[in-house]
Amino acid sequence: MTPMQSEGFRAGYIAIVGRPNVGKSTLLNHLVQQKISITSRKAQTTRYRIHGILTDSRSQFVFVDTPGFQKQYTNRMNTAMNKVVSQSLQEVDVVLFVIEALHFSEQDQLVLNLLSKAVPVILVVNKIDKFSDKSRLLPFLDDVDKRFDFEAIIPVSALNQVQVSEVVELIRPCLPENPPLFDVDAITDRSSRFIAAELLREKLFRLIGDEIPYSTSVVVDQFTETDKLITIYATILIDKSGQKAIVIGKNGGKLKLIASQARKDMETLFDKKVFLQVWVKVRSGWADDIAVLRQLGHE
Ligand code: GDP
Ligand code: MG
Repeated sequence: MTPMQSEGFRAGYIAIVGRPNVGKSTLLNHLVQQKISITSRKAQTTRYRIHGILTDSRSQFVFVDTPGFQKQYTNRMNTAMNKVVSQSLQEVDVVLFVIEALHFSEQDQLVLNLLSKAVPVILVVNKIDKFSDKSRLLPFLDDVDKRFDFEAIIPVSALNQVQVSEVVELIRPCLPENPPLFDVDAITDRSSRFIAAELLREKLFRLIGDEIPYSTSVVVDQFTETDKLITIYATILIDKSGQKAIVIGKNGGKLKLIASQARKDMETLFDKKVFLQVWVKVRSGWADDIAVLRQLGHE
């Protein structure tokens, strides 16, 4: 697809905000139709700003997936995360504020309080597939509508891809006239290395579930690419040595499963054979260690 560089082309940044678990990553994945932002039933799996890019003949949409606004934790990691949220809200042309239908909580209000009136905000009411009596939606929408001067309100099911393309059409007129901001073939401006780490982290959260804390992280130590093969050495950083056995599993079975599922996703995404080697290291107290945070790109 070759987007026209002609007059009338629109391009801009769209932030996706909302409390954890409302479906921001799921929405982003379907908006850009590529799996680049990880999703999980656990909250807080997205720690970075990720750009997902959708380009069509008339516009380029650059999406920013932000971590959920966090109130309950106060260590540096989460302070850094909240900073990311506020920053991303000042730099964008449009904000998609995502909530879950019929569940407007205090946490949603806290996110709403972060939004600037200077930037158009589109309210995306997600997970409408979760209840059958649709008449319950109207009074809910009425109530939320009173809380902010929204540019538009749209009910969707990100999971079932209901009304996702309508979201794109609501965003389009809000973008400024600009030539494309990124290479039109770009899916993401993040490096393959970063995506590899995200895919591995997603498998970790999916396969270990509640036994592993959010502070667990993944670092890609080496990423080398030849014509035929990508070789990746990665380390899973855990808080306490007690978690090591959980991550590695009996006879290393858990870690093997995590690595092999991550490798399959990497091969699909990179369209190349991947050799993946994963280590597990204990880094106690690292969530409060500024040096490590910098290394991971938070500050
Ligand atoms: P985030 O924390 O806001 O990024 O949320 P995720 O995209 O990771 O989604 C959190 C959970 O909600 C996952 O289990 C998703 O599968 C689920 N989810 C997302 N969108 C929908 C939806 O439209 N309907 C339903 N039923 N579940 C959804
Ligand atoms: Mg997410």
